[in-house]
Amino acid sequence: MLEDIVTVDLPVDEQVAIKRQRIENGNRDKRIAIVTGIQGDELDGQYICYKLIKKLKENIKDVNGIVDVYPAINPLGIDSITRGIPMFDLDMNRVFPGYSDGAMAEYVAASIVKDISGSDICIDLHSSNEFIKEFPQVRIAENNKSLIPYAKLLNTDFIWIYESATVLKATLAYSLNQIGVPTLALEMGIGNRINREYCDQILSGIFNLMNEMGIWNCETRIPKEPMLSTEGEVEVIHSKHSGIFIHGEAKMGLVRKGDHIGDIVNPAMGEILESVYAPFDGTMFSLREHPVVYQGAVIARIMGDKK
Ligand SMILES: [Zn+2]
Repeated sequence: MLEDIVTVDLPVDEQVAIKRQRIENGNRDKRIAIVTGIQGDELDGQYICYKLIKKLKENIKDVNGIVDVYPAINPLGIDSITRGIPMFDLDMNRVFPGYSDGAMAEYVAASIVKDISGSDICIDLHSSNEFIKEFPQVRIAENNKSLIPYAKLLNTDFIWIYESATVLKATLAYSLNQIGVPTLALEMGIGNRINREYCDQILSGIFNLMNEMGIWNCETRIPKEPMLSTEGEVEVIHSKHSGIFIHGEAKMGLVRKGDHIGDIVNPAMGEILESVYAPFDGTMFSLREHPVVYQGAVIARIMGDKK
């Protein structure tokens, strides 16, 4: 059933509503929450929600629990093709856990946390931004290593274990983990696009997780064995110049030391300002897609043995 979990009045007698699609059957003791659309330019989650809800509805007899899908936490952002909340230019994933007596975004955030609380697990789906493409990955804070067994079920290529200090405390995932709802943030693809291959990969992971929890009775595919990496094994390559980034031959995935990732060029002078190469053998899991770069912009992230 599609329900409004929170509504906010808009200035001219309109309303914005955060929706929850609840699909339930059998034993209601177990509950999973699938959340997406916190950032309005991250759209892979829309495809995943569509496919997930369709399959659950068509196979309701195989559902044994509650599946709550929140397809648009920031509906104004999605509707207006904007990353943040449009009128305030505010990143929705920086206002959690919110405040029930607070301003609009804080009130909405608090209502969402309240609605999800009590779930046995939560999956928060993201699509990077419009600049960098990401391999399907789970990101976990170092002090939340108890999430790793869940993360391994999700059929991602790898699990990135962040140093706790670099994890933002105002995210939905952080807030839910704080109140005891194990929450996994997933990154995949690139903003403003849908990568069906990545989405289908994650979708089979979600069904696999639901199967392990006893919420989904159908047989599921055995997930990929993800690589686990800590921050120390990740090299972030930044641009040393401002210019236009042109891809080289190196593709996302396995790279060898010296593979050509791309060039930063000065179109006005017909010059290469900088050539970027893989510094060691490893897996390139983030790669610049947007060609306009300023000095310091992230070009790629590579995980591997830095020695
Ligand atoms: Zn995001």
